[in-house]
Amino acid sequence: MAKVLCVLYPDPVTGYPPKYARDDVPKIEAYPNGQTVPSPQSPLGFKPGEMVGCVSGELGLRPYLEQHGHELVVTSDKDGADSMFDRHLVDADVVISQPFWPAYLTAERIARAKKLKLALTAGIGSDHVDLKAAAEHGITVAEETYSNSISVAEHVVMMVLSLVRNYLPAHQYAVNGGWNIADCVSRSYDLEGMHFGTIAAGRIGIAVLRRLKPFDVKLHYHNRHRLAPEVEAELGLTYHDSPQSMVKVCDVVNLQTPLYPATQGMIDEKMLSQFKRGAYLINTARGALCDRDAIVRALQSGQLAGYAGDVWAPQPAPVDHPWRTMPRQGMTPHMSGSSLSAQARYAAGTLEILECFFEGRPIRPEYLIVDGGNLAGTGAKSYGLS
Ligand code: NDP
Repeated sequence: MAKVLCVLYPDPVTGYPPKYARDDVPKIEAYPNGQTVPSPQSPLGFKPGEMVGCVSGELGLRPYLEQHGHELVVTSDKDGADSMFDRHLVDADVVISQPFWPAYLTAERIARAKKLKLALTAGIGSDHVDLKAAAEHGITVAEETYSNSISVAEHVVMMVLSLVRNYLPAHQYAVNGGWNIADCVSRSYDLEGMHFGTIAAGRIGIAVLRRLKPFDVKLHYHNRHRLAPEVEAELGLTYHDSPQSMVKVCDVVNLQTPLYPATQGMIDEKMLSQFKRGAYLINTARGALCDRDAIVRALQSGQLAGYAGDVWAPQPAPVDHPWRTMPRQGMTPHMSGSSLSAQARYAAGTLEILECFFEGRPIRPEYLIVDGGNLAGTGAKSYGLS
């Protein structure tokens, strides 16, 4: 019997289950690169479209785990030495956590988790786990690649348009009873003809480029590895061998790299000074990719015309985090990858990985981040240990 410790975000303050706005979610048959969607052998413990990402939703895992004699502990109490997470970690075999409400598996915590064999991310982005420490302790780290990549790509497109067209302040004028056209449009532009660039063109980055192509923008990217010539030609992409070269010519910059030591703080004062004055920056990747205070200063000085994203450091962000109140921003709590549609996919993927783990079957390589003492699968392609 194994102990599975699952850390999820709290239930809605309005109660669980929520009153759903719709009766179903579309069924996605395959991902854009042909990768199959999660395919667990056991029945799902939920109906797609239901809220499973919060504590009472339990990712729908209880029926499967209890049927097989495993113990499931679910909590949102994750921070501080006396948290439920810390108390149960000491004898947990499996930890499941979500990037939206990350249970930070630091090297110190990993050292105390003597039985831990699997750290599973319900979603994408396993930077809340100290990957080096996990590798050293023989812990497998896995996530559900692609499960919410399109969810995030859609969110990025929404934020690009919101910032460039000045949607959020204009909406506020309407809510407040105003009709201030001049105020609404004094910072409102068309996206058409602008230069848009993404730093990292992985699953999300490419999906964003594809979605923006019909807007007749000029598309740029920087990635560690260059994309296939056919993809560059299809999307009319300009490749840059450094982020600096790209940000100099872009009106809108999207940040989409995973967070690991080499990318932490990559958008700092120096990098921001290379941006075109009045550029917009979107970040749905990770908050710690940016220097928090440099972003605030760039918005205050007008070097950035806008910043939007849903990722912060740490999470949840403290109430006095300056990104909550900085000017010209469209921040939300970390939500883009946890739509009800995305939850159905990453919960099914979590079940698939658990089945593989308990039945001794290999986990799909595309789900692996760390395995066998080193980066593996997608982890070996997209992350670094330094
Ligand atoms: P992928 O693994 O598909 O893509 C990551 C890309 O980053 C790869 O193309 C990789 O390039 C590139 N990359 C890595 N390091 C660098 C670097 N130093 N400079 C430039 N490019 C680099 O991941 P996804 O696109 O699915 O997700 C990306 C990130 O988005 C996740 O790691 C996560 O942090 C975040 N995310 C956020 C969500 C949210 O809810 N806000 C949900 C899902 C993900 P190469 O192939 O050349 O190594």
